[in-house]
Amino acid sequence: MDTEGIKRSLEGSGLRCTPQRYAVMAFLMQHTGHPTAAEIFEGVNRLDPRSSRATTYNNLRDLVQVGLVREVAVEGRAARFDAKGMRHHHFICDGCGRVEDMEWYDVPQPAPASLGKRVLRECELIFRGLCGKCAPRQASR
Ligand SMILES: [Zn+2]
Ligand SMILES: [Zn+2]
Repeated sequence: MDTEGIKRSLEGSGLRCTPQRYAVMAFLMQHTGHPTAAEIFEGVNRLDPRSSRATTYNNLRDLVQVGLVREVAVEGRAARFDAKGMRHHHFICDGCGRVEDMEWYDVPQPAPASLGKRVLRECELIFRGLCGKCAPRQASR
């Protein structure tokens, strides 16, 4: 997504395109490795030291709320963030906490009876295990 695209998607979601908000969105589009809020703040601040930590975190929260950014909760560690582009599932490593993208495929929806009065927004999978770096090496034969 280019500058115009980011601007359009912010405004399309009802958010004003402030320079700080734009910077958070642009950083996430460029860094697809699921940075934490602290990493986003550092990255944005390196380019434009006008953003305070509070502003960056608030902008991040707004972007999650309107659905432009996805928050990936990692048990026992800082949450990681992802600009929602292509739909994908996630793999979370138990060893190092790294979050990797997994190819998207449709997940079966729960039966209406089991949903009750809940309103389903989306349905995604989180795979857990060990990433390529943390998985024990196979003994070579
Ligand atoms: Zn790992
Ligand atoms: Zn992702």
